[in-house]
Amino acid sequence: MAGNTFFKDVNKCFDRAATYLSIEKGLLSQIKACDSTYHVTFPLVRDDGSVEVIHGWRSAHSSHKSPTKGGIRYADNVNEDEVNALAALMTYKCAVVSIPFGGAKGGIRINGKNYSDGELERITRRFTFELIKRNFIGPGIDVPAPDYGTSSREMAWILDTYRSMVNTLDSEGCVTGKPIAQGGVSGRTEATGRGVYFGLREVCRVKKEMDRLGLTTGLAGKRVIVQGLGNVGYYAALFLQEDDAIITGVAEMHGGIYDEKGIDVKKLREYIVETGSIKGYPEGRFVEDSKSMLEWECDILIPAALEDQITTENAPKIKAKILGEAANGPVLEDADAILRKMDILVIPDIFINAGGVTVSYFEWIKNLSHIRFGRMDRRYEENAMSRLLQAIEGLTGARFSENDIARLGKGPEEWDLVDSGLEDTMVMAYERLRETRDQYKTDLRTAAYISAIEKVALSYQQLGIFP
Ligand code: NAD
Repeated sequence: MAGNTFFKDVNKCFDRAATYLSIEKGLLSQIKACDSTYHVTFPLVRDDGSVEVIHGWRSAHSSHKSPTKGGIRYADNVNEDEVNALAALMTYKCAVVSIPFGGAKGGIRINGKNYSDGELERITRRFTFELIKRNFIGPGIDVPAPDYGTSSREMAWILDTYRSMVNTLDSEGCVTGKPIAQGGVSGRTEATGRGVYFGLREVCRVKKEMDRLGLTTGLAGKRVIVQGLGNVGYYAALFLQEDDAIITGVAEMHGGIYDEKGIDVKKLREYIVETGSIKGYPEGRFVEDSKSMLEWECDILIPAALEDQITTENAPKIKAKILGEAANGPVLEDADAILRKMDILVIPDIFINAGGVTVSYFEWIKNLSHIRFGRMDRRYEENAMSRLLQAIEGLTGARFSENDIARLGKGPEEWDLVDSGLEDTMVMAYERLRETRDQYKTDLRTAAYISAIEKVALSYQQLGIFP
């Protein structure tokens, strides 16, 4: 979906889904359109004294709900079409998992690796300043989050800049994915990957589906290839591996590693972080042409890098049975048409990578309510459970061991509650997605768009704008 076709591709999926619904044309056009896109340029004085003009975008796709929500990415191919497409995906994603936000996305056209930390901080703060100036950011307006090339560090800079200019009671809710000490929530860093894991676990739980693909149920023993071992790819691979899936391949920017026996993803990630590249990793087989790994034999393929990875050229060669779109838009629309005719279960991005925005929603709620999840009820629940265990002991004469008491009587920490909310969101959303797919006799992507369009249309209708 490179160049200027990404948004068109998203709209093609939308149009295909809309044919299943009887929604008025004008309303469909309103849902599809990007409400506003802001393109900003500003000068960066580099560490060596030279000056460079930086380009950034922020697009608010749909304000049928407020605030709008979406990540900010730093990559050298960021452009307006991409940002609009990603903002639209956010609208549909939020609707699929019932998160009450409109979609948004931002991006700055830089390769973060080419700038010093100080330069990145200046870029982030200036971009935030430009957003504040145009009223394009705020806890009730538009709330950014991390995406490709950004992390909690950039989110902390955004918060600090926002708070120094707009210091209200709710300022902390102007951005999510922050460090915990700056109002972040436990579990946000790993949320997207963890959501991918929960989603795929659900996919593999359904016997009818696995029988059709010639696979057994459950994740144990499933061979997985992951493209991109960044935030999303790493945590997806890690949680899958902890549930006994075998990560046979990791395709990264400067090559890949393949090992039929399984790759220790934690060790590999540490190596990449330490050396800056996958090259030279001492275990497994090094693969020069990492993109070719998308076509290799495996049960589950997880593109978790960028859009535009599966094209009409490599789609017919894909051998995976399940393709989980952890990245946004990794499959071109023409390639998707090919995959729909093959025996591959494609799990669409607007469902499978929704874990990030789900936990961002929890973080935003935490910021607005000014209290950590579990603070009021953790000890209360522990005491109630302790009384229950004592009552059981009294009635049955059984004695619980210290270990049992510690395990059964533990009240929920913030992480437990966030994780439970994330699991519930992914499990329920997949169940609804399958129902919609079966009802309309279509594929999962079209079903996801049908469900999203229905929800957004209803929201506009209830605003009284459309009949
Ligand atoms: P990231 O920057 O943390 O990691 C991306 C990884 O992909 C890096 O390790 C990079 O080296 C690798 N990569 C880049 N180009 C590659 C290529 N051509 N081949 C192989 N590897 C390549 O980014 P991320 O946050 O993990 O985001 C990845 C994708 O997931 C993006 O499409 C993003 O929009 C999507 N996503 C991210 C989140 C989130 O919470 N971060 C949420 C939803 C969706």
